[in-house]
Parts: sequence; C-alpha cells; structure tokens
Amino acid sequence: MHELSIACEIFEQVKSTAETHRATEIKHVTLQMGRFSHTNPEQLSFCFKVLAEGSIAENAELIVEMIPLSIECECGYEGTVDEKQIQEDSGLQSELLAYMAAIFECPVCGKQAHITGGRELIIKSIEIETENEN
Ligand SMILES: [Zn+2]
Repeated sequence: MHELSIACEIFEQVKSTAETHRATEIKHVTLQMGRFSHTNPEQLSFCFKVLAEGSIAENAELIVEMIPLSIECECGYEGTVDEKQIQEDSGLQSELLAYMAAIFECPVCGKQAHITGGRELIIKSIEIETENEN
C-alpha cells in the first residue's frame, strides 16, 4: 500500500525529530498534503496509528492540511485550481483528474500551464512534550 510507505517515512522523521529534542511524547503532527499527491489522508492516518503503537507517537494526532493544486503560465497567470468545481462540471473521477492535472490549461490564454504546487507531502510541524520545560 502506497500510504503505508509514506506513513513509515513520516513516522521515522517524526521519531528522529522527537529523539533530537528529547521528547517524552509526541502530541500533534501536522502534514501538508497536496490535493494531487495521490494519497488518501484517512488511510495515511490509519497506517501512522498502526506504526506508532507502543512508541512515543502512540497518542499523536495526525492533522492533515490539504494544499490545492496551483498552476503558473508563461502569460503571467498564477492561480489555484478548484478541482471540486472541475469535477462537478465534467463529472470526472478524481484518478482521471489527477492524471489530467499534468496537462492543465491556463484559464487566461489556454496554453499549457505548469503545476507549481499540489503534489507535495510535507511535515509542517511536530508538537512534542519534553521532560523539562527548559
Ligand atoms: Zn496563460
């Protein structure tokens, strides 16, 4: 499963960060996930919980912030794509839409626009508990 390997990576990163800061408990992990990162947030949270069992991240809450797809065109246009709207307009399935995201057209000039965001998966912040407040 795709989500399991991502959850593994996140877990390893979170754990090593927590160890560096001598954390006793990990409380929150905030992720930024692109709408087109092909990742299911529910499955990812589930995998993370399974991995974190028995570790200092056991009670950590995984918070996922979704990042919309953003595009940029050589005409100077920059914007985000509301894929929900497109989906409603065209009745496309999200998988197909994700594929089509590779060939998004600029709404201003109709040329092929570059995707500048929406595929990332980043650990934004980690909230930890440490033994000593100082
Ligand atoms: Zn354009």
